[in-house]
Amino acid sequence: MPKKNLIAITLLFLAFAFVDISLAATIANLSPVFKPYRDANKGIKIAIRSFEEDGHARLVSLDPETFTTEVVDEGAISFADVKTTEWKGTRFIHALHKYTAPVAGFENQGMRSAEVKKGGLFLTMDLCPSTKGFDRDAFEATEALGTPAPIAIAVSGLWIERHREEFDWIRREESEGRLAITWMNHSYSHPFDRLREPKENFLLTPGVDFEDEVLRNETLLLENGVTPAPFFRFPGLISDASLLEKLKALSLIPIGANAWLAKGERPRNGSFILVHGNGNEEGGIEKLLKFYGENKGVRLLPLKEAFERK
Ligand SMILES: [Zn+2]
Repeated sequence: MPKKNLIAITLLFLAFAFVDISLAATIANLSPVFKPYRDANKGIKIAIRSFEEDGHARLVSLDPETFTTEVVDEGAISFADVKTTEWKGTRFIHALHKYTAPVAGFENQGMRSAEVKKGGLFLTMDLCPSTKGFDRDAFEATEALGTPAPIAIAVSGLWIERHREEFDWIRREESEGRLAITWMNHSYSHPFDRLREPKENFLLTPGVDFEDEVLRNETLLLENGVTPAPFFRFPGLISDASLLEKLKALSLIPIGANAWLAKGERPRNGSFILVHGNGNEEGGIEKLLKFYGENKGVRLLPLKEAFERK
């Protein structure tokens, strides 16, 4: 091939690579808001975040009946004439108050299983920062149960930044319809020191800026085209009454678990199963695969179906 053509092709490749990079949105000034409004179909929605995406004013909008979130243009929304009575009785607001109410202790606060008897289970997987590869076999075994397979992934920002290839793989499974993912926030840096007591560890570590941990992770998710769900998983399942209060102010529901497989807890109907898919908890993944093998026809459900209907 003539050298000139080679240079031209190389330049073309570089140009495409550059275009690809420029497609990633720039997200700035992500802030918590609480602004109910009525959408075009007369349904009540609540804007829970405002931010700028490549300079355009956007909102993260929550449907307080279905627990789904989406990004909308702020300019297209009118906040006029919504009465408190219209949003106060919604399923989301009910659950938000219920699961962020102050309780004693530090462990596994928030929602731990379905509110109603369910013929199925809820799989939650934590992706805490890790230097290991991820447990692709757990995803594939879950998909083998029937697709799209519902899974709630609690992801930390540092995991995404150190596992780009794995993150892209999961996103592809989602976009091609093999996984139906509820993206939960697991904080950005997921502080942890194995020598510290729970009450001074994880997000209770002195000096940690809780709101920054939450919003920085959401910013990263939005930059990657993921709209975060209104759910939060405390790292280590460790929190206290003050963090619950702060979480409520951020309109996020804490999600605990009653079937942490690596700890020997057994799933029953309506359980929130907890496994780590970041290579750090092989025992949990083994138990999940064994559970699938021994319970043919096990049915997984999306997290939003764990909440009772009015
Ligand atoms: Zn974690």
